[in-house]
Amino acid sequence: MIFTQEHEELRRTVRNFVEHEINPHVEQWEKDGRFPIHEIFKKAGDLGLLGISKPEKFGGMGLDYSYSIVAAEEFGTIICGGIPMSIGVQTDMCTPALARFGSDELREEFLRPAIAGEMVGCIGVSEVGAGSDVAGLKTSARKDGDDYVINGSKMWITNSPSADFICLLANTSEDKPHVNKSLIVVPMNSPGISLSPHLDKLGMRSSETAQVFFDNVRVPQRNRIGAEGAGFMMQMLQFQEERLFGAANMIKGLEHCVDATIDYCKQRYTFGQPLIDNQVIHFRMAELSTEIEALRALVYQATELYVAGKDVTRLASMAKLKAGRLGREVTDACLQYWGGMGFMWDNPVSRAYRDVRLVSIGGGADEIMLGIICKLMGILPGKKK
Ligand SMILES: Cc1cc2nc3c(=O)[nH]c(=O)nc-3n(C[C@H](O)[C@H](O)[C@H](O)COP(=O)(O)OP(=O)(O)OC[C@H]3O[C@@H](n4cnc5c(N)ncnc54)[C@H](O)[C@@H]3O)c2cc1C
Repeated sequence: MIFTQEHEELRRTVRNFVEHEINPHVEQWEKDGRFPIHEIFKKAGDLGLLGISKPEKFGGMGLDYSYSIVAAEEFGTIICGGIPMSIGVQTDMCTPALARFGSDELREEFLRPAIAGEMVGCIGVSEVGAGSDVAGLKTSARKDGDDYVINGSKMWITNSPSADFICLLANTSEDKPHVNKSLIVVPMNSPGISLSPHLDKLGMRSSETAQVFFDNVRVPQRNRIGAEGAGFMMQMLQFQEERLFGAANMIKGLEHCVDATIDYCKQRYTFGQPLIDNQVIHFRMAELSTEIEALRALVYQATELYVAGKDVTRLASMAKLKAGRLGREVTDACLQYWGGMGFMWDNPVSRAYRDVRLVSIGGGADEIMLGIICKLMGILPGKKK
């Protein structure tokens, strides 16, 4: 991918924002189990960072998706995974379908303030009984006059405790599972919505996660995104950006793990020599560095084709799979060379080790990515290419 002067300027803007507004506070926010999301999103919104490839008509920058990927990569310099995930939910998980298929009225009401950082969004797909199996979700939105009446619950919803709206995937008919779903924008202050206490997570500590319950929640039908019954298809499209964002966002964090480990191994001596002088260690660092470059190449290739309007389901799934697996490999290998120091909670590599574990699970687990790739290769039993 060839980067222009504009890409580099955007890169600098994100880096500057991360260095001054986020990284100095991460230790505290990780301890708090939350960060001041409205304040940070407003600052990001003022810089245009929440609407890079969103339509200018609604306050976005109107740039192509390669710019979003550059930003996702730079948000990877945040020294924890929770905050970039939270930003990614806003930019690449709960707003792509709204931006592409929402009515002007709906986009004015929710997309414009989301881009400006005046509203926080979340995405409600997973349920206790339906994570990987999205088609099996049970939350329903039943028509009543001009409204939908929503009942059910959504599990593990990032940003939900602070969110102003949820982009909800719900069943709007009794039809077959792939054609009975719709995406609906639901204000989080609607009567009948309640939340569980914050869920206590292994990693991503500074992002807020909760279960969201819907008890006869009423929203106008005009809050539906696009055609009724097209929600599953729109969510699958929306997942492309989620997966590309997730993969791009891993690159710099993993590079940082390798660099920090090299620095540590240069100054840590065992048996009269620096750790890094052991061939097994410096070769391993070179191997990991090579793998990270391969991930970057895959992400850039998928992005280039996505910008050209191609279907990148295969490459985006591969990038997500590779990012999850490589994240585990890099953080595990690096942690090892920190010895006991690596096992300490506040060690940066130990935080990365905990945070990246989610990448192989959330937004479609590794096995779901493998299933998609197999289907597109024509080797999934019972499914034609
Ligand atoms: C911190 C966190 C934040 C999240 N944020 C959000 C959010 O904002 N919005 C949202 O909607 N969801 C969110 N999720 C949910 C996430 O997307 C799901 O956890 C994920 O899709 C996996 O679903 P599950 O947990 O139900 O696992 P299950 O579907 O129960 O699967 C369990 C495991 O079984 C394996 N598996 C599943 N199916 C197959 C198969 N067919 N073949 C082989 N192996 C298989 C996989 O390894 C999988 O990890 C979040 C989750 C976490 C932990």
